[in-house]
Amino acid sequence: MNEITKPAGKQASAAVNEQRLWQRHVDMAKFGATPKGGVNRQALSAEDIKARALFAEWVAKRGFELFVDEIGNLFVRRPGTDPNAAPVLSGSHMDSQPTGGRFDGIYGVLAAFEALEAIDDAGIKTKRPLEAAAWTNEEGARFAPGCMGSLVYTKPDRLQQMLQVKDAQGTVLKDALAATTAALPKAKKRAFATPVDCFIEAHIEQGPILEAEKKTIGVVTGIQGSRRFKIEVIGQDDHAGTTPRARRKDALSAAVHIVAGLEKLFHWDKEDVTRFTVGRFVVEPNAPSVVPGYVWFTIDFRDPRLEILDKLGDQVEGICQANARKCEVKVTQTNRTPPIGFKGLVADAVLAATQRLGYPHMHIFSGAGHDAQHLFNICPTGMIFVPCERGISHNEIENAAPADLAAGARVLADVMVDLANR
Ligand SMILES: [Zn+2]
Repeated sequence: MNEITKPAGKQASAAVNEQRLWQRHVDMAKFGATPKGGVNRQALSAEDIKARALFAEWVAKRGFELFVDEIGNLFVRRPGTDPNAAPVLSGSHMDSQPTGGRFDGIYGVLAAFEALEAIDDAGIKTKRPLEAAAWTNEEGARFAPGCMGSLVYTKPDRLQQMLQVKDAQGTVLKDALAATTAALPKAKKRAFATPVDCFIEAHIEQGPILEAEKKTIGVVTGIQGSRRFKIEVIGQDDHAGTTPRARRKDALSAAVHIVAGLEKLFHWDKEDVTRFTVGRFVVEPNAPSVVPGYVWFTIDFRDPRLEILDKLGDQVEGICQANARKCEVKVTQTNRTPPIGFKGLVADAVLAATQRLGYPHMHIFSGAGHDAQHLFNICPTGMIFVPCERGISHNEIENAAPADLAAGARVLADVMVDLANR
């Protein structure tokens, strides 16, 4: 038995309070509540500010210290016995999609805070400090890119560029940030790049696998990679009544053939692992009596296997050209993120704590991106998934069971103690 699989003397998990954790989700869901029962709490909005202020109130009531950094990331600290040790960090995000749910992101923040409280309630001392984090702007719905807070934390040289980002209304991030931090007068300022010992993120699965397999805990093995493309099809605007078929350069017609060709390429695996989405499709001039002269669309392609990302992604250009008919096609890769694997220290600790607690569990790959993918670049990192109803997420009807949320928080609390005292 190595040090990580050895159970902590007193169990922090036993002090996790399911009702307290659930009530905090209910309280947070009031900020940006939507008619269909979800939330619209976009990053650095008035709703986000109110949610952060309430969180700061809970932190103060508990007697923990709160810190804020230059991009608005929040850190709640419970000191360790070794004043020089880097913290064991856990957290997620408080912002949501415009039609988001009550659990995506906020669960990971509240679970981390619940873990700190439970560890405190159990009277457990840790060698390393423990911290709960709320990363700014994970969703990227209002300000792009997403996972901004965790990205900048791990790459501080990107800060100045991010501060200048504007939302659709022209609000500069820097100004929205100033209003946000002004609402947190008690939070102490903290610079970036303070060392982190390791990071664990708890999150709802956002997919249907745990529920279907009747598992309470997903021990996350990694986050799949992605490649994104912008495809432009350039034809010619023409009169719909007078232009014979032989003379047309119909960009929409060509684009439809291109998409059909791409579907043939990407719908290849019986296991249904590869994800291929044309999520945005824009036709110009988009007028009923004009042959469309210009179309652009996006490809979002994801797979956990690097070799598949390379092999299929590299064929996109060829398929577009082969199906372009008389149009011109321009293919631009807008993003390429390799898959990452969570192995070793944190993943082992998650598995060990889950087994000790006796929860039904399985290994699972994350289909969605998370803040953990950036922390992975600077410290040992892992994730804990809990089920969500029918796998529905990024949707106002997103739902999760209080018992499952508490189970994830119990695993997290024990993992944090194990990692902080190793
Ligand atoms: Zn999330």
